[in-house]
Amino acid sequence: MITPPADPATVARIFLSGEALKTEDFDCQACGACCAYSEEWPRFSLESDEDLAKIPEAYVSADLSGMRCESDRCVALEGTLGLHVGCRIYALRPIVCRDCMPGDPECLMARDRLTETLQQHLHGAAQETPGETS
Ligand code: SF4
Ligand code: SF4
Repeated sequence: MITPPADPATVARIFLSGEALKTEDFDCQACGACCAYSEEWPRFSLESDEDLAKIPEAYVSADLSGMRCESDRCVALEGTLGLHVGCRIYALRPIVCRDCMPGDPECLMARDRLTETLQQHLHGAAQETPGETS
């Protein structure tokens, strides 16, 4: 069972305290950045009709062009970004998802953006709680 999403500031603290995104320890199950990079990302390409038919309808975009996303995040991604994530349709995931390899340019681009987002959350949390030190 995946841990329910915590508040963004907590996630950022956990993630950045481990320096997870700044290292070359590419643990996809503690990342998920590429699955929340853009709604344009998890698009279908050369999948067969048979393979696409296996993906639950709830996870497919309205125009059937790819995975359904909410705020850039694929709805098949469960868990908390940067902490503990999983793909609900791992065995059925699209080709683009299979092609993104830990450490490749697309992976690094997605992780950079997630780092930036988490740092913004951290900065916002620090401004809201100026007396907090941990
Ligand atoms: S491929 Fe890279 S960006 Fe995607 S989940 Fe794995 S480590 Fe994160
Ligand atoms: S289908 Fe799975 S691997 Fe692909 S973007 Fe969605 S959650 Fe990530």
